[in-house]
Amino acid sequence: MIPSVLPTYNRAPLSFVKGEGSWLIDTEGRRFLDLCAGIATTSLGHANPDLVAALTEQANAVWHVSNLYTIPQQQKLADMLVENTFADTVFFTNSGTEACELAVKMARKHQHDAGHPEKTQILTFTGNFHGRSSAAIAASGTEKMAKGFEPLLPGFTILPFGDLDAVKAAANETTAAILIEPIQGEGGIRPLPDDQLKALREICDATGALLIFDEVQCGMGRTGRLFAHEWSGVTPDIMMVAKGIGGGFPLGAVMATEHAASGMVAGTHGSTYGGNPLGCAVGAKVMEIVTSDGFLDDVNRKAGMLRQKLEGLVAAHPDVFDHVRGQGLMLGLVCKPAVQAADVVKAGYAQEMLLVPAAENTVRLLPALTIGDDELAETVTRLDRAAASLDMTQPA
Ligand SMILES: *Cc1c(COP(=O)(O)O)cnc(C)c1O
Repeated sequence: MIPSVLPTYNRAPLSFVKGEGSWLIDTEGRRFLDLCAGIATTSLGHANPDLVAALTEQANAVWHVSNLYTIPQQQKLADMLVENTFADTVFFTNSGTEACELAVKMARKHQHDAGHPEKTQILTFTGNFHGRSSAAIAASGTEKMAKGFEPLLPGFTILPFGDLDAVKAAANETTAAILIEPIQGEGGIRPLPDDQLKALREICDATGALLIFDEVQCGMGRTGRLFAHEWSGVTPDIMMVAKGIGGGFPLGAVMATEHAASGMVAGTHGSTYGGNPLGCAVGAKVMEIVTSDGFLDDVNRKAGMLRQKLEGLVAAHPDVFDHVRGQGLMLGLVCKPAVQAADVVKAGYAQEMLLVPAAENTVRLLPALTIGDDELAETVTRLDRAAASLDMTQPA
């Protein structure tokens, strides 16, 4: 009999009843060290008092009014995002998937209104993840997500990750945009080298295509800069964000330059809940904290410390781990072929620690950006024990 919850997830047999910073407490009172953070979502920790206060204050005032009216909390958050980034304008969504939908629509509308209705094709890359809608699965290079759901939405060309020659060959007069994650999350914490991001920008400039970055997972302070692309100096025309931007409250956004967004006039897009007072009140508080003096410096300091400790862990368990990759507090432990990332995650549960598997046999570490130094030390202690438990189960 089908379960009452549609079984589209392989769930671990764990249920959490309370969160405190980097800790989740389960139904049996066990305290788990949370390096998953709702998959890079509760980026300021569980039950963050500032976020709880922002949410409850707004909840006591007004929850929902509709985008038929001006929403002050939405205006405030949009102003903060515009002030701190490349973007001139922002549309709020409830999720990353919805941000993907709008990013694609916006790029095509831009080309259409610029007198290029033939420019409809979106170039994307293997291993990308943009969500589960029809557009998002068509845009992803992953057969697992698309198989059985055909016909897929046309208009997407999937190119091999990291293959610039393939991009040069594919970019032509029909290309509307190139869509990429500066650091792939689900794809296994795979960063695209800066010179490749620069080359994509040049290809876009040469062909009139727009550059879309998906920073749903790598954005909002995760890599130690407000947005990951800032490390490369390459600026997109359109950017999708979600996950960490709401600190655990459902919130997403598409940010864009005036040039890219110029076709999106009244009536071209909408959302009932998008940009609601609750989400935007929390989002504004998240932005205030992440952009506050010294916050990202501290993320970078902690990231350096964690990375160094993880390098040591890899050296201590060469049969389990291959190498560390990623940036800031978005780190991946790539496992040796004989070890499954899912088994490392399971071994983590036995140490009361939450890790996330990803493609390419990678274990993701995506702790709250507010994680403490002592908790980072504890992370490595527990990882060491988890790895040791796997060392012992390896055949001699
Ligand atoms: C999670 C994710 C999405 C989808 O976001 P949802 O909020 O789950 O719809 C899109 N892109 C990337 C890079 C993601 O990590």
